[in-house]
Amino acid sequence: MCIFCQIIEKKLPASMVFEDARCLAFLDIQPINPGHVLVVPRAHVASWQEMEEPLAGHLFQVGQRINKALRASGLRCEGVNYLAADGAAAGQEVFHAHLHVFPRFTGDGFRLKFGEGYAQKPERADLNAVAARLRDAIGILP
Ligand code: AMP
Ligand code: ZN
Repeated sequence: MCIFCQIIEKKLPASMVFEDARCLAFLDIQPINPGHVLVVPRAHVASWQEMEEPLAGHLFQVGQRINKALRASGLRCEGVNYLAADGAAAGQEVFHAHLHVFPRFTGDGFRLKFGEGYAQKPERADLNAVAARLRDAIGILP
């Protein structure tokens, strides 16, 4: 059984923040900043790409409440990041899909690192070609 399923079944400890019928939210064991929350579906879904859209929407809806709670909590919170890693190449380490919601403040040291070539903006024609591919892909989704 995966580590988050063990938390859901109360076989492992967690510092719980919120629970409802479809998900729970608890503190990350290795927070980026104090108040780093994981929003986790009760059902074991390994990755975001396998998740039904309404459940994905619900996780973000709960994330939005966590965002507001962080700002009302007195914890240091000048900004909030939502982060969802879908797949190992995207940095996913626990294969029970989850949404990270964590507070940010100036100088906290967390940053995204961009790859080489990022500084070079693509031509509009290249952007349009990529957009066309995605429009086509959206059109054939079930
Ligand atoms: P990800 O890279 O998006 O898969 O993130 C997995 C996250 O789960 C990491 O931030 C870990 O610190 C966190 N994590 C791993 N084990 C536990 C645990 N037992 N309780 C709470 N958070 C955990
Ligand atoms: Zn699981």
